[in-house]
Amino acid sequence: MSKEYVERVINWVKERNPGEVEFHQTVEEVLTSLIPVLEQHPEYEECALLERLVEPERGVTFRVVWVDDAGKVQVNKGYRYQFNSAIGPYKGGLRFAPNVYPGIIKFLGFEQIFKNSLTGLPIGGGKGGSDFDPNGKSDAEVMRFCQAFMTELYRHIGPETDVPAGDLGVGAREIGYLFGQYKRITNRFDGGVLTGKGIPYGGCLGRTEATGFGIVWYAEEMLKANGEEMKGKTVAISGFGNVSWGTAWKLQQLGAKLVTISGPDGYIYDPDGINTDEKLQMMLELRASGKNVCAPYAERFPNAKFVAGKKPWEVKADLYIPCATQNEVHMEDAEAIVASGAKFYCEGSNMPTTNEALAYLQDNGIIVGPAKAANAGGVACSCIEMGQNAGHTVFQHQDVYDQLHQIMINIHKACKEASEKYYGKYDLVKGANIAGFEKVAEAMMAQGLV
Ligand code: GLU
Repeated sequence: MSKEYVERVINWVKERNPGEVEFHQTVEEVLTSLIPVLEQHPEYEECALLERLVEPERGVTFRVVWVDDAGKVQVNKGYRYQFNSAIGPYKGGLRFAPNVYPGIIKFLGFEQIFKNSLTGLPIGGGKGGSDFDPNGKSDAEVMRFCQAFMTELYRHIGPETDVPAGDLGVGAREIGYLFGQYKRITNRFDGGVLTGKGIPYGGCLGRTEATGFGIVWYAEEMLKANGEEMKGKTVAISGFGNVSWGTAWKLQQLGAKLVTISGPDGYIYDPDGINTDEKLQMMLELRASGKNVCAPYAERFPNAKFVAGKKPWEVKADLYIPCATQNEVHMEDAEAIVASGAKFYCEGSNMPTTNEALAYLQDNGIIVGPAKAANAGGVACSCIEMGQNAGHTVFQHQDVYDQLHQIMINIHKACKEASEKYYGKYDLVKGANIAGFEKVAEAMMAQGLV
């Protein structure tokens, strides 16, 4: 009965959102996990709860017009999908990347509902972005683009309405320009209208590393629940951006040995470990270069090897953490991970694993930590930033870390307990979907047919 309901809604999403493959993928993955919960709540089907969950409350698409350094007029698409506000104002990042289209923003927005609910904090789900490519653009071009983007976005957001943040291609610099333009238009210092702000103007200490720290704290809980510890583990991660850098830093603190990072150009294998302050600094330099390549790491540290055009999943490790982008781990990568004898796989980036690869990893006994739980530390810290701004105060670094660490422990516990309750086993993927869903469903039921 519930199985048919779920299948019907999945097909309905596919028909209504043609070609949006990433969105179909996440809806399928999430809704399928919810079947045993729906069995116990027939009233959810009666009031079309799933149909309402998969249909964003609001979505805006807008034109972004700006002038490049050569004086040429450029036109991009801008998006904001406000998915669900049952438990709090919409919250989620902005992604600037050339492949951005509604299928990507909707998958991210849908995931964000469950992730934000898992944090235990009062934030709804949303996501936005643009097909603008920040790579290779001058600072002035990025500023003009951000100003043009906010000139439309400002009318859809607000500290109690929708609070965007960064995602791929949107870091502290972009948030600064976006905030400056918001303030200029509205004449309001609404600190909590954007998160990930710079420290001098309302930013939260620790936000830059929060996602990576949270991922490693979550992975540590996975290890502990299975009688192991982080110290001494060999770890392979992808990416070299913000999330990867925070992950590398926390792995260093906990005494794990990180051996890979990657970029669109290939991956770095460093047998000595990417675990010195100088090497972490190098990751920041790679990002700041704006070239989107990781090869220069091997020029600086000659013991390291650059492997062109390949992904790091062929390197043997105890724990794998994809931190780059969606669908970066396919079936052949999952096969390599299983063949390596690894026991743990923790998603860092949003939906890094194809549904097929995810099933293969789990069927072969790998313990998987899902992104919507593992990377929730970023948005949790954003919510701490909103609280800081609302209270016109500043939180201390250690306070933020302590809160964040506890939140990650709680999220792991919630995922574990939900999967044990409904599936009678330790399956964090299903548990995350269920634990995230339960609170949102209850709130939606209480608020009537809206
Ligand atoms: N883009 C991040 C995410 O995927 C952060 C969102 C936020 O801080 O609002 O969760």
